[in-house]
Amino acid sequence: MRSISLLAPAKINLYLEIIGDAGGGYHELAMVFQSIDLADRVDLRTIGIDDFRIRCDAQEVPLDNTNLAYKAAALMAKQFPNAFAQYGGAEITIEKQIPVAAGLAGGSANAAAVLVGLDMLWQLGQTVPELQQLGATLGADVPFCISGGTALGTGRGDQLEPLPDVDNLYVVLAKYRNLQVSTAWAYQTYRQQFGSTYAAAPEQLRQRRQRLHSGPMVGAIARKDSHKIAQLLHNDLEKVVLPAHPPVARLRAAFAAEKGVLGTMMSGSGPTVFALTSDLSSAEAVRQQVQTTLNDPDLGFWVAKCLPNGIQLSR
Ligand code: ATP
Repeated sequence: MRSISLLAPAKINLYLEIIGDAGGGYHELAMVFQSIDLADRVDLRTIGIDDFRIRCDAQEVPLDNTNLAYKAAALMAKQFPNAFAQYGGAEITIEKQIPVAAGLAGGSANAAAVLVGLDMLWQLGQTVPELQQLGATLGADVPFCISGGTALGTGRGDQLEPLPDVDNLYVVLAKYRNLQVSTAWAYQTYRQQFGSTYAAAPEQLRQRRQRLHSGPMVGAIARKDSHKIAQLLHNDLEKVVLPAHPPVARLRAAFAAEKGVLGTMMSGSGPTVFALTSDLSSAEAVRQQVQTTLNDPDLGFWVAKCLPNGIQLSR
């Protein structure tokens, strides 16, 4: 029996712009991803079975073949049949820290960990770009979750370019535990309401993609200018999620009213809202203050730090 333990960090989006239609029901996006040290632990053990078994301590997470971690394992078995025949399947145990259906890419991070973990257990020696190419077939966030850190994502979010690390920012996250927002719903609703504004001509698409590459957010990250990064936070999906869920809008307003907050935004398709601070004590103070102001037992809070990496071996 062989085993491996990995940490699978969540991501937030410092920037998420919907720029057009990518065909096949997908959107053309321009995003800045950021890993944070709120991470699930994913253990893989080869136990002499010819399938994959998922265990997870979070009730909302499916344990069958719809789990993204299972899908990642099945993909590896299909892609590397000789290794699968030699080593067999594995038991995959997920200790959830990342809230589910929260816009933090928890499922994608688990899938990324399984790709990296099986590559190690099965001694395949795949490169990161090779694993990312495989991961893109599972979900648009999976390639980023493998390498992590700070990165630009274009296309469906899966065409990645690394950016300099953002190592001087702390993050306070809050989510209503009983509120989950489906990513598919958020994008479909956005399309219904704003589809007429999508860039359609190739030149228009190229220009809007380029705007992020050479734009103020990338410049602020390159200069490690926390205040500017926080001012430039952007997420188009707020336009559909906040009106549909007034408590999320109130949560965002509560963060924005706090003195220590450099900037606040919803992550991905939500409903998690995050606030950036420049040090840990400000982050803790903001968490306490907003918790007291809103005084809602359904609200969960987390404090995290920006992280320069994706999947890592757990010590
Ligand atoms: P993203 O930010 O990539 O849109 P998310 O953070 O909003 O993702 P997830 O936590 O990945 O959402 O969960 C989305 C849905 O996927 C959940 O409703 C859950 O039932 C299902 N799911 C499948 N596998 C997993 C997994 N390993 N962890 C969490 N959810 C999973």
